[in-house]
Amino acid sequence: MSHQTTCCYCGVGCGIVVKQEQNGRLTVEGDKSHPSNRGMLCSKGMNLHYTVMDQSDRLLYPQMRLHRSMPLQRVSWDAALDRTAAVFKTLIQKYGPDSVAFYVSGQCLTEEYYLVNKLIKGFIGSNNIDTNSRLCMSSAVVGYKLSLGEDSVPVCYDDIEEADVFLVQGANPAWCHPILWRRIEAHKTANPHVKIICVDPRKTDTARSSDLHLPLRPGTDIVLNNAIGRLLIENGDIDIDFITHHADGFAAYRDQVMERTVEEAADLCGISPDDIRQAADWIGRSKGFLSLWTMGLNQSVIGVNKNLSLINLHLITGRIGKPGNGPFSLTGQPNAMGGRETGGLANSLPAHRDVVNAAHRAEVEAFWKGPVNIAPKPGLTATEMFEALADDKLKAIWIINTNPLVSMPDVNAAELALKKARFVVVQDVSNRADTVGFADVVLPAAAWLEKEGTMTNAERRIAYLPKVIDAPGEALPDSEILWRFAQKMGFGESFTYANCAEVYQEYVQLTAGTNVDVTGVSYELLKKYRTIQWPFSEKERKENEEQGKPYTENRIPETGTKRLFTDHRFYTANGRAQIHAVPDENASEPTDEDFPLVLTTGRLRDQWHTMTKTGRVAKLNQHSPQPFLQIHPDDAKARGIQDGQLVEVRGRRGEVRVKAQLTDDVRPGLCFLPMHWGKMPVDGPRKSSLNRANNLTNALIDPRSKEPDFKFSAVEVVPY
Ligand code: SF4
Repeated sequence: MSHQTTCCYCGVGCGIVVKQEQNGRLTVEGDKSHPSNRGMLCSKGMNLHYTVMDQSDRLLYPQMRLHRSMPLQRVSWDAALDRTAAVFKTLIQKYGPDSVAFYVSGQCLTEEYYLVNKLIKGFIGSNNIDTNSRLCMSSAVVGYKLSLGEDSVPVCYDDIEEADVFLVQGANPAWCHPILWRRIEAHKTANPHVKIICVDPRKTDTARSSDLHLPLRPGTDIVLNNAIGRLLIENGDIDIDFITHHADGFAAYRDQVMERTVEEAADLCGISPDDIRQAADWIGRSKGFLSLWTMGLNQSVIGVNKNLSLINLHLITGRIGKPGNGPFSLTGQPNAMGGRETGGLANSLPAHRDVVNAAHRAEVEAFWKGPVNIAPKPGLTATEMFEALADDKLKAIWIINTNPLVSMPDVNAAELALKKARFVVVQDVSNRADTVGFADVVLPAAAWLEKEGTMTNAERRIAYLPKVIDAPGEALPDSEILWRFAQKMGFGESFTYANCAEVYQEYVQLTAGTNVDVTGVSYELLKKYRTIQWPFSEKERKENEEQGKPYTENRIPETGTKRLFTDHRFYTANGRAQIHAVPDENASEPTDEDFPLVLTTGRLRDQWHTMTKTGRVAKLNQHSPQPFLQIHPDDAKARGIQDGQLVEVRGRRGEVRVKAQLTDDVRPGLCFLPMHWGKMPVDGPRKSSLNRANNLTNALIDPRSKEPDFKFSAVEVVPY
C-alpha cells in the first residue's frame, strides 16, 4: 500500500510516497507527481522511514509527578489533563490569564496551531502563545508587512526557471534547502548565462557553486545592500515607472544610500568594491532577479532592517510580481508558514490579523463565539517567555514539539528559567527532548505518519498529510490532546470536533475575504489535487467547478501556482509598496580584548534542529558525527591551536568544548559552531551541556520582530 504525504523537515515541502509492506516495513521515495520536488529527496527526506520505525525513544504514556524531585509516573490521559486543567485554572484565577503560556513549533500542523491559538487567545484570554518560528522567520514577517503590507511570500518555485540572477544572502540552501537548490543548479546548468551571487561570511557549499561569493563581515548586510542600491540608481537600473506608480519612500531611500561611497561600503564589509559593482551590474541587467535568504538576515538584532534592505532592491527595480522576480524568504520549518496563517505568533490572529487591531479582534471574537475575549496587547514572545519564567511573572508553560533547551539563545539562562517555572507541561514525541527532565506533566504525541492534517510550504503550497500508521502506546494526535484539554477547562461547547477535517473547515472560514483566503480548500480537494497554493477562495473553486476546469485555471499550468502582486497592487492601506530608508549600523554584542572573535551558528547538511529525529539515523550521523568549531588558520595560529585539537570556546554567558577544524571557509575573526547538539546523546545517560552552541549566544533581539541575534556573539577560543 502506498500513501502520498509531505516531508516533515524543511520548508521546501517535498512530496513523499510512503510504501507499507505486508510485514509493516515502511519505505519512502520522492513523489514524482509533486510540483515542489518532482521526485527528488535530500538525505534527510530519504531516511525519514528510519525515524518512524525506530520507536525506542518514543513517549508512550502520559506521565506526571507532584514534585520535580520525584520520578515521572505513568498516569491515564484523564488524570494528566485533569491535573493540568486544575493547575491552569488555579493560576489563571490567582494571577490572571497572562500567568500561563504555550510555546509551540513550526513542525505543528495547521490544525494544531489553530486550536492552540483559539484556546489561549480566545478562551483563556491571553496572547501568550509563540512558536519557534520566532527564532527563525519573524524578521522576514515584519519585513514583508512593512514593505508589502502583509506577511505574504510573493513568489513561487516556478520563478526559479524564469530567473537569470539569484542573490542568495545569509543562506546555505545547498545544505538547508537542498531540493530547491538542486532546481536552481539544474536551471543554471541548462542556462550557463544564469548568475548566482552568494553573500555569506562563510564559504559554504552554496558559495562554492556561485559565480560570485561576497564573504562580508558579519553584521554588514545592510551596508552591502545599500551600496548595491546606490549603484543601481547611479547606473540608471531602477524602474522609475514602477516607483512612481506603485511605491512610496524612494526619495528618503536615495538620500540614505548616497551617504556612503561604494569604497566605504566595501571597506566596512571587508570585500572588494569591484565585487559589489559586479553584483549590482548583474542585478541591474537581469530579466529575472530572485533573492533568497534565511537566518543570516533573519536571526539578527537588526533583522527587520536587513530584510527591508534586500526587499528594497526589488522595489527600486520593479522586480516583483513578474515571472522570475521577487524576494523569497526560505522557510526553515515544514509548517512555519501555515502557523503564521493561523495566527501562531504572539502578536497575530488567524488569517494574518493583528491582536492590536480592534476590528480584527472583533471579527475573530464574533466567529469564535462563546466566552471569548481577546486581549488587546501582544503576548510574550519566545525569549520573553523564558525571561518571564525566570522573574516568576509567568507561572506555567506548555511546550509542544520543540526543544528550547537546545534551541534558545543564552540557553543556560533558559534552563534556569524552566527550572524555576512553577508548572511545565511537555507535549512531545520523543523522550530525547531536553525539556522532559523539567516537566511536571509529559503528554505523548503522535508523530509524522501517525496523524492527519495540513501544512503550508515556503511557496504558500498547502498539502494534506494522511494518517498512515497507528501511534504507539497511548500517544495521541496533538489536535486531540488540545481539544480534550479545552473540554477539561470548561470550553467544551467550542471544542467539540470529531476529526481534524472539522478543525480545518472551521479555520478556513476565518480566512474568508482576506488576502490569505483559503475557503476553497478542503481535505477532499487536497486529496484530489495533492496540493493547492493560497489564496484559493470558495469563489475561485466554484467558478472553476462550474466551468469544468481544474483548480489550476488562471494559474501557472502544470503546477497550479500563483504569483502575488502581478497587478502591482500591494496589501498596504494605499495599495503601494513601501521602500524603507534603513540605517546600516549593527547593534550586536560588541567584541573586545577578552572576546575578540565573532561566533556564528548554523545547520549541518544531514541534521535537523536538535537531532531528536535525525540524531537517531546512523546514515545521517556519518556526515558529521561530532560537533566542531570552524576557525580560520590565522586565528588558530595566533592561539596555538592545531587542527583537531580540543578547544574551549568562551563567551560572556558560558562555554563550549569541541574539536577545532582549521579552515579558510570562515573569514579571519569569525568562527562557526553547528547548532544541533544538546545534552541528550544518541544512546545512554544525559551528558554535559558543553556541546551546546547556544551556551554562547546572547539574548539580544530585534526590537520589532523579537528575533534573537544568533549569528553574532563575542567569544574567545583557547586550547583545552
Ligand atoms: Fe525534506 Fe527539505 Fe529535504 Fe525536501 S529538501 S526532502 S522537504 S528536508
